[in-house]
Amino acid sequence: MTPIQLLEQKIREIPDFPEPGVVFKDITPLLQDPRSLDLACDLLAAPYRERHVDLVVGIESRGFLFGPAVARQLGAGFAPARKLGKLPWQTVSERYELEYGTSEIEMHRDAISPDQQVLVVDDLIATGGTAAATVKLIRRMGGHVVATCFLIELSYLEGRKALAGVEVEAVLTY
Ligand code: AMP
Repeated sequence: MTPIQLLEQKIREIPDFPEPGVVFKDITPLLQDPRSLDLACDLLAAPYRERHVDLVVGIESRGFLFGPAVARQLGAGFAPARKLGKLPWQTVSERYELEYGTSEIEMHRDAISPDQQVLVVDDLIATGGTAAATVKLIRRMGGHVVATCFLIELSYLEGRKALAGVEVEAVLTY
């Protein structure tokens, strides 16, 4: 079995969650297995080992599971990008379109120092809307986005189009 096949085996597909028509990629079996967890973090960090990354930004909520592990591998810090109303201090926020309605993502206004090299991490890219809003926030604060990286890419939803001009890496592609 290849490392990629091992990881694929550890992703459970849940039809019609959280709503009809969505096949939810459940990564909890992967997190539970020591080898798969280690491998997933290694493969996420691999493309950036020889590059300069000051800060990893993890997207709520499953970006918080991988982000700090990737940050430690790269000798970088970590900052969370959260859903509206969760952060305790002063924030900057970015609104983005969902299939129905809008959503908003926030970061603390001092999360990024000007000219920091920032890597964005999340578990999954679907339409790319969440990651694109996070990239905008980071740039507004003066950060340079090195890349966005994901454990899983649902390529049929064409999330890369929302991230035009930004480097996108995915460990597993469906
Ligand atoms: P999007 O903004 O459409 O790229 O959605 C990405 C966010 O929604 C990520 O934070 C994912 O964790 C979550 N997400 C979207 N679709 C799925 C799915 N099919 N399975 C698991 N998580 C998903």
